[in-house]
Amino acid sequence: MQTRLLFADDRGRVYDHPDLLAAVRSGDDVSPPSERPVPLPPGATLTMLPGRRPVGVDRATGAVVVLREVKVGRRTLVPHAVGATLPPGWTRTFLPAASRPALATVEGTPVLPQWAYTAAALDGDAPVVWALHTDRRRHWSPAAHSTPDLPRIVEGTLAASANPIYRQLSRCALEWRCFTAQNTFYLRDEGAIPSSAACNAACVGCLSETQDGMPPSSHERIAVAPTAEEMAEVAIRHLTRARGKVMVSFGQGCEGEPLVRWKEIERAIRLVRAATARGSIHANTNGSLPAALRRLVRAGLDSARVSLNSASPDLYAAYYRPRGYGLADVARSIRAAKAAGAYVALNLLTFPGVTDREGEVERLCRLVARTGVDQVQTRPLAIDPDVYVEVARGSGAGGRPIGIRALVAALRAARPGLVVGNFSRAKRERRTE
Ligand code: SF4
Repeated sequence: MQTRLLFADDRGRVYDHPDLLAAVRSGDDVSPPSERPVPLPPGATLTMLPGRRPVGVDRATGAVVVLREVKVGRRTLVPHAVGATLPPGWTRTFLPAASRPALATVEGTPVLPQWAYTAAALDGDAPVVWALHTDRRRHWSPAAHSTPDLPRIVEGTLAASANPIYRQLSRCALEWRCFTAQNTFYLRDEGAIPSSAACNAACVGCLSETQDGMPPSSHERIAVAPTAEEMAEVAIRHLTRARGKVMVSFGQGCEGEPLVRWKEIERAIRLVRAATARGSIHANTNGSLPAALRRLVRAGLDSARVSLNSASPDLYAAYYRPRGYGLADVARSIRAAKAAGAYVALNLLTFPGVTDREGEVERLCRLVARTGVDQVQTRPLAIDPDVYVEVARGSGAGGRPIGIRALVAALRAARPGLVVGNFSRAKRERRTE
């Protein structure tokens, strides 16, 4: 496989190396690629990993080489590694091959912001990545979002309603380009209902609250939690007027954990279902409070997505840093929601070299088989790879990594009919796949 190594200069300009071939990373291991890459998908972006030296493969010897300096024209520069970030619907299979400086101690080597860095290279004259197209449904395509008319639509909604949720969502839609928030203004598909300013976990890579020693979170968490009436107003408008795969969801990137506000959300759901039976009411949750989730399903929540990085209690705790609950409660929540009749998905935060360790895969397949989840969403974990490798060191089940492709195949085999994808399923899509 003659895919060529990419590197960048200090200004982020990307070059391909004339001699070195691309390498990929899984956990701590860097090696020549063992599978073919795919063309860079529309909506994906090549990205520089500042302060990380690129690692390639010597074409003649096959040896893995750290590129410490390189000549470009008459300049000799210290190169930075290059990876990619993927659009929704894709699952990364390998990490960028980059040498690992001592974390945050080396000048100019900051901890990387929370993105899902993916291995990338040049094949012929086209950029490629190591990834799987795990969900081909188009309604989340970047091309359908952040359209020129969006600011006007947002303004119109803000002028028509003083509901503070729309104020929060206007920032999410325009500043952080959250597609679920944008859908709430476009009145289509899945709309967002941020519900909670607090959380009972402290994920190392939390997207809505900056953790110690980590770069600023990519979203600003809502400051004031909305009332049941405010949440119901936004939900009713969306469920009665939206087109497409109609759904509203609690538990967005800009908030904490919805279950810690279950009483208000329960009231909101009852208000919504008193007004309309249309569409789906969904929650993205850490699954920490089984009894609370059961109450929401009984009130009318018909779908839940429970996030986890592992089915091993110690590795789960190492990343989520839960307060007052553990992985056993998460498993209980999944069972409770299923027993109460909800469609349940796992939001599996995947990381090559950790999630696909043989022992980890075994435990995940057992969890899937025993709890009867309907879907697994394979979401590449957005975090500095060096940080997560340290978080996972000595935690979780062992065994050699089998590859993310094999993980997906094992999950599908673990539970006949299991849907593996990236997006939540609207009511009419469930059970038909
Ligand atoms: S569960 Fe969500 S909101 Fe809570 S710490 Fe983790 S990522 Fe942040």
